[in-house]
Amino acid sequence: HLPNSLQGRDIRFLMHPVTNARAHERTGPLVIARGEGVRVFDEDGNAYIEGMAGLWSVALGFSEPRLVEAATRQMERLPYMHLFSSRGQEPSIALAEKLVQMTPEGLDRVHFTNSGSEANDTVIKMVWFWNNAIGRPEKKKFIARLKGYHGITIGSGSLTGLPGNHKGFDLPLDFVRHVSTPHHWREAHEGESEEAFSDRLAAELEAVILAEGPGTVAAFIAEPLVGAGGVIEPPAGYWRKVQEVCRRHDVLIVADEVINGFGRTGRMFACETYDIAPDILVLSKQITSSYQPLAAIVFSDRIYQGIADGSERLGTFGHGFTTAGHPVATAVALENLAIIEERGLVEHAAAMGRILQAGLRRHADHPHVGEVRGTGLIAAVEFVEDKAAKQGSTPPGRLAQAVAAAAQRNGLLLRPIGEAVCFCPPLIITEAEMEELLERFARAMGEVFGA
Ligand code: PLP
Repeated sequence: HLPNSLQGRDIRFLMHPVTNARAHERTGPLVIARGEGVRVFDEDGNAYIEGMAGLWSVALGFSEPRLVEAATRQMERLPYMHLFSSRGQEPSIALAEKLVQMTPEGLDRVHFTNSGSEANDTVIKMVWFWNNAIGRPEKKKFIARLKGYHGITIGSGSLTGLPGNHKGFDLPLDFVRHVSTPHHWREAHEGESEEAFSDRLAAELEAVILAEGPGTVAAFIAEPLVGAGGVIEPPAGYWRKVQEVCRRHDVLIVADEVINGFGRTGRMFACETYDIAPDILVLSKQITSSYQPLAAIVFSDRIYQGIADGSERLGTFGHGFTTAGHPVATAVALENLAIIEERGLVEHAAAMGRILQAGLRRHADHPHVGEVRGTGLIAAVEFVEDKAAKQGSTPPGRLAQAVAAAAQRNGLLLRPIGEAVCFCPPLIITEAEMEELLERFARAMGEVFGA
């Protein structure tokens, strides 16, 4: 790349997040210049369908003028005001009220952060403060799951159950225990039904709680449907069974819907899809269609009241971020949620999801496709070298990377994760655009495996 090109300057000056630096120096970035609907365009004007909605997040696509207007209006009126020490501003108050109204019953209070990682770090500290406040300071451990993704900071990165995010950082910290991934196709025993597999995982969770001592286990955190770990749907009965275990031992349930929330699974929240009654719900990404950074923790009155009582005895809940609940971000979120509701985009996502899921399942019999999975507008196709043995590729991820690269050449951006390529298009995708996405994917498959 020429030193003065965008690619050359990128390689010279930037270090990218979650990017292999040496590999990046060899290839350089795909620089995206602009977006329109479900498409983005590179510097040379090549168009791509954004099959991943950015990072699972751009619900309304890349050119929604009402979000631009909402941001501009707020910038002109009040571009910034924090929420520390009882300061307030209208968009954050209105969004907190809206989130309490729209989320499942039993979630009554909202606390804002800038990102999903910050939100999960904050959840850890809220739960610790709460347990301190109500007189059980030893109830501190979090149980998370292998392949769960909850963020990248020291705390949230410890909750994440992906070794690639722990390597080199001495993570996870010792307050976290990880239990099995609920991936039936990959993890179940030969002939084990989904219900039996769920029984086994619930028993594993209970055994870990008992081994640690229920008095030391504060919370179980999980994505209702695993996203960044490779799109893994919970098996039948899973959520009912693990919730029973948590309730039995007074362990809080934290539903991380940073990817799932706001229509992704075909319901407004995946907690509705899988009948989960969390104590704490974590939201981000699609809350603003990622036009602005924002995350929200929506939690029960029981936790709020404990923290509030605690602040009289222990002192202030001493935690928060300068730009948490930024008025421009919360104003954009309000407009984004209004559009999702006005346009019926959750029902639309369910309808488009049926086309996506059926279209991808047409590849299920392919000799190199191990599993097609997902629900609503989130899906994955996992590749195998040997179908009967469910054996992945060598080196690991080779086939998924090859298919994602071929898709990109065909104007479709997908995300390879492990042996799978993932799909998570904007909620606004039309039927014609979905057919185009499926056709480009089929072409990519043909290029990699032969027609
Ligand atoms: N939780 C889940 C389920 C996520 O998928 C992510 C990001 O992909 C996070 C938390 C972390 O969010 P962020 O990247 O905004 O810190």
